[in-house]
Amino acid sequence: MLSKIKAFLSFFFIFIIAISSYSQVVNSESTTQNLGPLTNENIDTYLSEYVKFESISGHEKEAGEWIKNICIENGLHIKQMGDTDGEYNFTASIYPLSSKLPNIVLLNHIDVVPAGDLSKWIEPPFSGKITETDIWGRGAWDNKGNAIMQLFSVVEILNKYKGKQLPFNVTFLAVSCEETQCRGGAEYVINNYLDELNPAVVLGEGPPAIKGALQTKPNKSVFPISVAHKRALWIKLKLNINTSAHGSVTPLRYANKEMVEALDNLLGKKQKAIYTDLNVKMLKEMGQLEKGLTGFAMRHPKLFRMFITPKLRQQPELFSIFSNTITLTSVDSMNDVVNVIPSEVTALLDCRLLPNSSKDEFLENIKKRLDNDDIEVSTIYSMPEMKSSDDESIYYKNLKKAILKNHTETDVITILLPNTSDAGLFRAKGIATFCTVPVNIEMSYLDNIHSENERIPRGILANGKNTYVDFIEECIKENPDSLSTVPLSVSN
Ligand SMILES: [Zn+2]
Repeated sequence: MLSKIKAFLSFFFIFIIAISSYSQVVNSESTTQNLGPLTNENIDTYLSEYVKFESISGHEKEAGEWIKNICIENGLHIKQMGDTDGEYNFTASIYPLSSKLPNIVLLNHIDVVPAGDLSKWIEPPFSGKITETDIWGRGAWDNKGNAIMQLFSVVEILNKYKGKQLPFNVTFLAVSCEETQCRGGAEYVINNYLDELNPAVVLGEGPPAIKGALQTKPNKSVFPISVAHKRALWIKLKLNINTSAHGSVTPLRYANKEMVEALDNLLGKKQKAIYTDLNVKMLKEMGQLEKGLTGFAMRHPKLFRMFITPKLRQQPELFSIFSNTITLTSVDSMNDVVNVIPSEVTALLDCRLLPNSSKDEFLENIKKRLDNDDIEVSTIYSMPEMKSSDDESIYYKNLKKAILKNHTETDVITILLPNTSDAGLFRAKGIATFCTVPVNIEMSYLDNIHSENERIPRGILANGKNTYVDFIEECIKENPDSLSTVPLSVSN
């Protein structure tokens, strides 16, 4: 009897394997036959197909399954880390994660923001249309373009080093809902799989090369690599003053008036410029690239701060990395009746703190400036303090080298970003994390990110993919001794 059960079980097992491999073959045929191998010639087409999935945050599974199948067809090892919409994440690696090798992780997100006003799109947002010059659609830049470059680079490394034992694993990590920062995406991966993932370094989305950043050399582009980001501190202000409720008689004190006055006290004053080691270093690096007096002043920012600070203030994007910012995003008294005086009003402040600024001091300063003890100040959300990633590390240097090799006529600078993405969650865990998208793109394309008519120029993806490949190979070269020809024993 037992042997019969065993026989049945093994038959059943073989049947299951046959079915699952059959379904993979079917998928494999459908994708590969249509789109061809992962080569430079086909890279734009793969992006175009990926863009066609309407993977708005919380609806990632279909797009995720599609790109995961491409990973399977190309021989990568998959680990599913949540497989439902809003919590659909997976890794695709050159070795299984069970190999426990230090891991070079290329992070991207499957989700996109909604398309916005459809009537404003020249080409439909999920058409993936390839015109003579561009690849169109929501996600073409953020973040599917980056994902396709990363995927092609990982597969190229796999094929090139087949049968060899590398000192690193290399992993494509696709996650859900970066745009809404829901809990099922990168946070879920970190909370449940960080040990298994074993990241030595994480490369995440960031700025591309930017032209026009240098005043004295407007045609030269600069490649920023972000090593840190500001911390979000979200604050709620609440003021309650009971008064007669009729607007015909103005009371001496009432909530709306006092909140407006307090906010005026707070926001009417300019935020102080703060020079930190990191932003001073950034100015100095840019100063090295500028000519004449501008370059000289930037190389000595503390000495020339009287001249530099007003210049920085003129560009809020730039000034945001030299200051803690306070942005009033909501004032609400739950009232739309004109002759009623509401007793309560709330205001929301989106504040962003430089890496070394103290949250407590910042809050104290806000209370002082509001100058109204009746206003309750509470924290809705506060990102933890974290260390910047080391721009002296070998990973940073290798990334810089790869960028300079593939993008001539550029220079690399170290920056901190005013906002954060999923990569910041890894940095908060103390993992070396660098953010950039290694392509050179005209500024005008960046205006369409998260807006209508998102698209990227044709032909830039192959170059970005080569940059990732060179980065990975530089990391391998650092460890030539451990590059052996013995294939990994764990094969699946
Ligand atoms: Zn993004």
